[in-house]
Amino acid sequence: MSDTNNIDKIGQLLRQGGMSVTEKRVQILHLFFAQPGNALRHADIEQQLGSMDRVTIYRTLHTFLEKGLLHTIPNADGTAMYALCKDECHEGHHHDDHVHFLCSQCGVTICLDGIVVPQVKLPQGYAARQMEMVISGTCQTCNI
Ligand SMILES: [Zn+2]
Ligand SMILES: [Zn+2]
Ligand SMILES: [Zn+2]
Repeated sequence: MSDTNNIDKIGQLLRQGGMSVTEKRVQILHLFFAQPGNALRHADIEQQLGSMDRVTIYRTLHTFLEKGLLHTIPNADGTAMYALCKDECHEGHHHDDHVHFLCSQCGVTICLDGIVVPQVKLPQGYAARQMEMVISGTCQTCNI
């Protein structure tokens, strides 16, 4: 996908979510589109968009989470990671029940979209609201 196509797609996503297309929103989403499937930390975004302030980044990410454009991935050190959602996610309804993979060698976190989190049978009296699975190991690139 070329860069111009990405910009078009970003504008379309923002409008679909009822958001205005602002330069900052486009800049942040563009980072995710540049490496589809890869998750980013707040710090990664801050580093790549040096001119943007922390609060703006934080607020924009929060809006994208609410609107169903991004989902979070828990990280061992407690910092959230963000990744692009698929088209089936909408405002207030996420369907990101896939496994995430964390490479302990290069540090990349990837959405394994085709791998669904297996169902777990809970003891009586427990109700699950959310389940996440993060597998750590070495990624495709590091295994070559
Ligand atoms: Zn989602
Ligand atoms: Zn790796
Ligand atoms: Zn994901």
